Amino acid sequence: MYPKVTIHLLGPIVNLLLNSSAFFSARKQTMKPLNTITIVFNRFIVWTRSKPYRIFIFKWLKRLFISVAAICILFFALNWVFPVPDKIEYSTIVTDSKGEVIHAFLTKDQKWRMKTELDEISPLLRKTIVEKEDKYFYSHPGINALAIGRAFVKNIFRWKRTSGASTITMQVARALEPKKRTYFNKVIEMFRALQLEFKYSKNEILQLYLNLVPYGGNIEGVKSASILYFKKNPDHLSLAEITALSIIPNRPSTLVMGKHNDRIVLERNRWLQQFAKDKVFTQKEIQDAISEPLTATRGTVPQLIPHLAWKLKQEGGGDIIKTNIELNTQLKTEKLVADYSRILTLKNIRNAAVIIINNQTHNVITYVGSADFTDTIDAGQVNGAKAIRQPGSTLKPLLYGLCIDEGLMTPKTVITDVPVNYSGYAPENYDKQFNGYVTIEYALAHSLNIPAVKSLQMLGKDQFTQKLIDCNFKQIKKDQRKLGLSMILGGCGASLEELTGLYTTFANNGKFTPPNYTQTPASSNRDVTIISPAATFMINDILSQVNRPDFPLNWQSTEHMPKIAWKTGTSYGRRDAWSIGYNKKYTVGIWTGNFSALGIPELSGANIATPLLFKIFNTIDYDSDEEWFTQPKGCDIRMVCSETGLPPGEHCISTVTDYFIPLISSTQLCNNMQEVALSADEKISYCKSCMPANGYKKKWYKAVPPEMQRYYDERHIVYEHIPPHNPDCERVFKEGGPSVLSPRNGSEYYISKKHPEPLELSCNVGNDVHKVYWYINDQFFKAGEAHNHQFFVPEEGPVKISCTDDKGRNKDVWIRVKYVDL
Ligand SMILES: [Zn+2]
Ligand SMILES: [Zn+2]
Repeated sequence: MYPKVTIHLLGPIVNLLLNSSAFFSARKQTMKPLNTITIVFNRFIVWTRSKPYRIFIFKWLKRLFISVAAICILFFALNWVFPVPDKIEYSTIVTDSKGEVIHAFLTKDQKWRMKTELDEISPLLRKTIVEKEDKYFYSHPGINALAIGRAFVKNIFRWKRTSGASTITMQVARALEPKKRTYFNKVIEMFRALQLEFKYSKNEILQLYLNLVPYGGNIEGVKSASILYFKKNPDHLSLAEITALSIIPNRPSTLVMGKHNDRIVLERNRWLQQFAKDKVFTQKEIQDAISEPLTATRGTVPQLIPHLAWKLKQEGGGDIIKTNIELNTQLKTEKLVADYSRILTLKNIRNAAVIIINNQTHNVITYVGSADFTDTIDAGQVNGAKAIRQPGSTLKPLLYGLCIDEGLMTPKTVITDVPVNYSGYAPENYDKQFNGYVTIEYALAHSLNIPAVKSLQMLGKDQFTQKLIDCNFKQIKKDQRKLGLSMILGGCGASLEELTGLYTTFANNGKFTPPNYTQTPASSNRDVTIISPAATFMINDILSQVNRPDFPLNWQSTEHMPKIAWKTGTSYGRRDAWSIGYNKKYTVGIWTGNFSALGIPELSGANIATPLLFKIFNTIDYDSDEEWFTQPKGCDIRMVCSETGLPPGEHCISTVTDYFIPLISSTQLCNNMQEVALSADEKISYCKSCMPANGYKKKWYKAVPPEMQRYYDERHIVYEHIPPHNPDCERVFKEGGPSVLSPRNGSEYYISKKHPEPLELSCNVGNDVHKVYWYINDQFFKAGEAHNHQFFVPEEGPVKISCTDDKGRNKDVWIRVKYVDL
């Protein structure tokens, strides 16, 4: 065993100890006859007890201490001034859920230099490399003085330099800082070796060595070599493979794997024989290794998940990015996307993106950014999963869930789907039709727009956007102040990543957990409760109903198709089609469309995106156990009036069962029917102040809100009117007067001088109003049926418009008109 340098430094101290023991043994031997050695020894002992001896020892100890201190100070000073250059650029590698490399990037200097982790250096790999390269690696301080001395002598006699004296540490130093081979550079290399030993543990130095050693061509490091030549991680290499690899760095240009395999085998077996001689491995192990054939050729580095790999690299993923991708599911999904995209191309729909998240672990197990990454014509490199697009109707389930939690509605709550106007914003339905009275359940399942806008108005836009921000919607956070009610119809920006993440909330009792793209998710990731379990259950119930208009046409459902809940979305101009589905196991998000943002008439969430969603569920969750979400504690069932969805009042005729949240959902009784006092001939109605003492009768009428009356009137739908109010009634109705829909109060209107377009006059009135009177700047303009529209061309400047109903109730609005050259 080669003694460590430090042991020599301890020499004098050891001598002192030996001396003192010799002194004691000498005393015991005084009775025996003396020979010459004993006499000399005894004299020496006497001298060691004298003062000059102590002075001598002290002087030398002092010198030794000063020298050691000076060497240390010099080393630390040099170490500080010339720190070891250990910044290494590695190839970024991306692994799947099992730790296999499924994607990698070249370094800036075009090398495959993958980082081998400490736990990938198997005992076999360590043992073989140390045995071959540097037997005393674990006992020397970076420099092997004996080997250097031997090499030095050899050099003198042969007049040529050999590198036999290089330790693994020195080889690391040389790889970090390649230099010409001169004696001076050798000294620098030794200093660097000491620095490395000072900074790193032995295993870390071995790791650096294995990461930097060249294996021919642009392959550096045992991991790159292992993956490129043997298609496996280094911890799975056999003794034969390790030995074969370990001889390449000696002659990388003449021992090329795949080209000179016979030569490599010869050299490999020579080393294996040597190992046998040194008894490093058993005879059996050596025999097995020698008989192992070498068929390796240079393969290619897998680049299987380009979009996710680029995304995570750009997000600063580090040298090794460990994803949760389940390669089998990823490849199956890619195939489905590619096959499906070929069919879509016929309709000029050229791209698609898919994300699959495991709902139990929140791991992103599949990530497809486009139909084909290598497709240059349709910009396959664009990451469709990350791109910000208009989300269509995909945010509606969240909205209704939040409204249920606020007690504003339950699934059977009735809402009106009729034209509305919010300060100029008049949303329309997808099919430009209106449905009158609808339940929330119907509105969500049919993705009606007006009920959604109304619900957002009721809930408050800020509360809604805040929930989306809690679910990591970045663009919505950025645009927070700019967003209007149209956001619920897709008038905002969101990505498939964000939307798929949001939908995992519905599969997790309303709790949002950020999806795990890597195995080490950001520490800032935390769960946020977005919706209550009860409201989540109600939404899941609605979204899993099969009888709905966004069930894809021509879809032959199979009996093996798992039960899922899903919601579709189609953006303005039919540029994006979405379909996001989930069950207890998976959430799958689909986007289809064109990266060029070209709108396609056939593009729809139902018919284009949903079939792919179904195909994917059919593949990844085929023959599922159908386990579904169970009704949570906070969710109860009650009977409600089918006409309003409220708990039935006295006069309600039909009832239905409905889910509700006790103490949250409204308990206001249905008052859909109102009792009105009429004259005996039912020609006029009375209010409390004009009702005669007798000669009247009472009748029940259904309360019809003004917007519904307008809807009925426009469609000539007959409904029961309350007879006009008693004309002799003196009570002035201040409340409940007409509301002017157009023009909008306080607005500015620009009118073309050449082609002046008239302005529309329209209003909403009470059920008992039949006629309205319009005044422009206090001048009578026109009288007409309450629900008829009137038109007029105003003069420039401020204009006052008044609307008076047949009860004398009045409403004024002011507008400003400008004539412009257009
Ligand atoms: Zn009712
Ligand atoms: Zn009255």
